[in-house]
Amino acid sequence: GCDCKKVMKDNWLLIATVVAVVLGIALGLLVREYANLSNLDKTYFSFPGEILMRMLKLIILPLIVSSMITGVAALDSSVSGKIGLRAVVYYFCTTVIAVILGIVLVVSIRPGVSQSADEIDRTGSSPEVDTVDALLDLLRNMFPENIVQACFQQNKTKEYKIVGLYSDGVNVLGLIVFCLVFGIVIGKMGEKGQVLVDFFNALNDATMHMVHIIMLYMPIGILFLIAGKLIEVNDWEIFRKLGMYMVTVISGLAIHSIIILPLIYFVVVRKNPFRFAMGMAQALLTALMISSSSATLPVTFRCAEEKNHVDKRITRFVLPVGATINMDGTALYEAVAAVFIAQLNDMSLDIGQIVTISVTATAASVGAAGVPQAGLVTMVIVLSAVGLPADDVTLIIAVDWLLDRFRTMVNVLGDAYGTGIVEKLSKKELEQMDLASEVNIANPF
Ligand code: ASP
Repeated sequence: GCDCKKVMKDNWLLIATVVAVVLGIALGLLVREYANLSNLDKTYFSFPGEILMRMLKLIILPLIVSSMITGVAALDSSVSGKIGLRAVVYYFCTTVIAVILGIVLVVSIRPGVSQSADEIDRTGSSPEVDTVDALLDLLRNMFPENIVQACFQQNKTKEYKIVGLYSDGVNVLGLIVFCLVFGIVIGKMGEKGQVLVDFFNALNDATMHMVHIIMLYMPIGILFLIAGKLIEVNDWEIFRKLGMYMVTVISGLAIHSIIILPLIYFVVVRKNPFRFAMGMAQALLTALMISSSSATLPVTFRCAEEKNHVDKRITRFVLPVGATINMDGTALYEAVAAVFIAQLNDMSLDIGQIVTISVTATAASVGAAGVPQAGLVTMVIVLSAVGLPADDVTLIIAVDWLLDRFRTMVNVLGDAYGTGIVEKLSKKELEQMDLASEVNIANPF
């Protein structure tokens, strides 16, 4: 017999999403060829996709708050410290590996050497910032003045310089810091804090149900999102000019996600990494389509918990933090782009400058919010650190919408493998906690 039926049944949403992508591409290309749409028509056309984005963004706030608080409260503080440390070590190591990989590739492929900056059209303009401003903004974000305001922060306050540091409207980093501390505190309060723990647990369950509802709409939203994008792009020539640059970025992302991350997962967890990645397929596809790891977060949660059966105590902690600070794809991309721009400007980099690029690319990826093209904006940190004109980000803007999708996918994959790896490393603590809670249930006093 064939278990196709079962496979279909378990994965129908994934299959529907893949079909939607294919149909969306076909529809986009057809409409492009045969229909002459006005700008207004184009907006109408992407409207179902816009609604999907709005729903995903809508759910981010309750999702992050409830998952972080319950995640931390469920661990006792000695354990949460250990798990948190492991997660941070994992984030850091994989990001640094990604940066080094990017640098090795761009220095050996040399995509910018044969061309000069003048040959590529510049589009748009870039903000005036420097590295210190950007780092200060990062810290400011961690300590919002007002927790309610952090939930709908406008990016335009005068002290903030770099817009790429914010997830549209929500100061995710600030919320995470707050929820982390809040969760630890209510977890420690015991009986007295229990009502809050129960409240946020219920909120978390309700939110995950709503995520499920949103996911039912996803194939339709994605179909129109991708079709709308294909109708909109009008400069294909630039792809030829920036071809080698794109090849460099994409092969780096591919090596990182097909070889390096799976290898790390295999070495630590001793299970099939590609099976794990397949379990994440829906989330990876979503990331590819919407180029935002924050907006993909709800789907990442569901895949990790439901398909890969990662312990909820791990995902609730590792995923929201990872979506905000762990961006391997972005780090790799920033390093490649900075060296590429130096090559276009005929500037040869010494080892000190390469190290500076590596360090700032890592920082810029931590600082970038999980929203479309945030990495392009935090790129100016890297450029200004080695004395390249910040305006030169405009050289690569035209192809960024495409590269953004791939790096976002790698960002999400890195977070996902992180849950599996941290879970494995924390097995002992999790089992001890299970034992302790069994004892508590059997003997509550
Ligand atoms: N779009 C990316 C993300 O959401 C960030 C970036 O622009 O690199 O993960």
